[in-house]
Amino acid sequence: MRCPKCLKMDDRVIDSRSLKNGEIIRRRRACTRCGHRFTTYEQVVKAILVVLKRDQHREDFDRAKLRASIAHAAIKRPISEPQIDMLVDDIMREIEAEHETEVHSTLIGRKVMDKLEKVDEVAFLRFASIYRRFRDASQFLSEIENLIERQ
Ligand SMILES: [Zn+2]
Repeated sequence: MRCPKCLKMDDRVIDSRSLKNGEIIRRRRACTRCGHRFTTYEQVVKAILVVLKRDQHREDFDRAKLRASIAHAAIKRPISEPQIDMLVDDIMREIEAEHETEVHSTLIGRKVMDKLEKVDEVAFLRFASIYRRFRDASQFLSEIENLIERQ
């Protein structure tokens, strides 16, 4: 790392600390020529995740949009705001671990349903009805039957 004071390209690390559960490494460095001390931060560069939609077009993954769709299904249900954030975090972590740069929107929807089902069945059904685009009441009922069978 180039010393910001004397511009020499030689330093040694005098302290290294991990922040945010190891997502960021903070290093204190000392220039070997002038002794100036400075700090650097290191973190993994995350690729922008692209969502492949049902109609085959692509758009950048939007965390706020995902959160809003879950929050919408959870209206007036006993699901707290922090719980919704945790759901979103879990889903994001899984997607980032399993997919490099592109993910199908159907897969995101399935993940949301898997998680919601365990948290609140009404929110699950609401989300499923929008996501699966139920055409009529019979589809809605068959989803409820599935839900009962799985218990
Ligand atoms: Zn220096």
